Amino acid sequence: MKCVCDLLGIGEDKVFNVVCVPSRAKLKVEHDGELTRYGSLVERIKWHDKVVLDDVDSVVDEIRKGNVIDKDVRKKHVDEVRELVSAVGEDMCPKCGAKLVKRNGKYGEFVGCARYPKCKYVRKGML
Ligand SMILES: [Zn+2]
Repeated sequence: MKCVCDLLGIGEDKVFNVVCVPSRAKLKVEHDGELTRYGSLVERIKWHDKVVLDDVDSVVDEIRKGNVIDKDVRKKHVDEVRELVSAVGEDMCPKCGAKLVKRNGKYGEFVGCARYPKCKYVRKGML
């Protein structure tokens, strides 16, 4: 989301996040955003009926221009992400990298990001 906002020069209030997974994929992580399957992505996007950007064609152009098509650059990016993911410890927020802390809520203890309310990552269980 941050990358798209930077690329388009718009605020985060103009975008929403939807994670789209293959229809038969099993999810191994908990996710606090919107989640959908390939088959229902368009339908899910249409839930948001408030128009926040008027020139959709130029948005699509900008995103296409920002897409990395160079094979080597892509591979380098994927390697860096893999390295980053393997470096994330159990006590680090997978969303922003901050420390995770134990919190108490209405329904008992849970693990949440120390940067709340800036980051809203939470998961069930203990640290
Ligand atoms: Zn976080």
